Amino acid sequence: MPKIGNTRETRQRKVVYEAVKHSKDHPTADMIFKHIRNTLPTVSLGTVYRNLNVLKDQGLVIELRGPDRKAHFEGDLTPHAHFICTHCGAISDIEGCPAPDWEQYPCLAGYTVEEHSLEFRGVCPQCAS
Ligand SMILES: [Zn+2]
Ligand SMILES: [Zn+2]
Repeated sequence: MPKIGNTRETRQRKVVYEAVKHSKDHPTADMIFKHIRNTLPTVSLGTVYRNLNVLKDQGLVIELRGPDRKAHFEGDLTPHAHFICTHCGAISDIEGCPAPDWEQYPCLAGYTVEEHSLEFRGVCPQCAS
């Protein structure tokens, strides 16, 4: 990770990054804040937000939009699909979903794709039962 800012700032960013990377539930800034307060009792929610945006700009975390309209973050950069439950708000990783061969699409000729995502919305199995 590039060293930017003073050591306290760098340490805080590392803790935020580790928290995102090790959580599987696509946390919001709020959730990360609550999670790291044990490690960093003096950290503020504003600092968590700022660090998440820096990490996003550095390409270390991905931001996705939940049904709650909040920004959710994850550190798993391998391409994978998401299922977003419109009932409980859970964002689940969908593994092994066949990826469309979108690079061959004639409608994308001339466009340079920097990212794309596959997102399903609906009701998750827990809410459906
Ligand atoms: Zn659900
Ligand atoms: Zn994910």
